[in-house]
Amino acid sequence: MRPPWALPEAKFIDACTRCNDCLKACPTGILIAGDGGFPSVDFQRGECTFCADCVTACQPKALLRVEGQDAWSSKAVIGDACLPRRGVECRVCGDFCDARAIRFVPRLGGSPLPELDPEKCTACGACIAPCPTRAIRIAL
Ligand code: SF4
Ligand code: SF4
Ligand code: SF4
Repeated sequence: MRPPWALPEAKFIDACTRCNDCLKACPTGILIAGDGGFPSVDFQRGECTFCADCVTACQPKALLRVEGQDAWSSKAVIGDACLPRRGVECRVCGDFCDARAIRFVPRLGGSPLPELDPEKCTACGACIAPCPTRAIRIAL
C-alpha cells in the first residue's frame, strides 16, 4: 500500500525518485522503504493521522493531495483470524477506531462479532497493530 494521496500506481512509480523524504516527514513513522525502495505503509508501526506532511515533503509530487479526495480508496477488512469468530471475546479494534467504523453485533451463543462500516472507515490503520491475531488488513 502506497502513502496517502499517491498518484495511480504507474504514475507514482514514474514520479517517485525514492528520495525517502516522505518517510522522514511522517510523524507516526508508518512509511517504510518497500519493494524496490519505493515507499509503502506499514500499519504495524502505527496509524495515519492524515496530517499530509508526507505530501508536503514530496517534491516530485508523486503524492498529490486534491481537495475532497480521500487519502485511499481502500478500507479495513476483518479476516477469519478474528477471535470472536472462534468464540473468544475481543473488542480491541473497536476501542482504537476513532471513526467508530467498527461496531459489535450481539449474537446468541457467541461473542459479539465486529462489523465494519466501509462508509465510516477512513483506512487510518489504527485498528491493525492492536489486533492480537493480526486479523485486520486494508484492502480495496
Ligand atoms: S498523512 Fe501524515 S501520518 Fe499519514 S502517512 Fe503522511 S505523514 Fe504519515
Ligand atoms: S481486535 Fe482483532 S481479534 Fe479482536 S475483535 Fe477486532 S479483529 Fe477481532
Ligand atoms: S482503519 Fe481506522 S477508521 Fe477503519 S476501522 Fe480501522 S481504526 Fe476504524
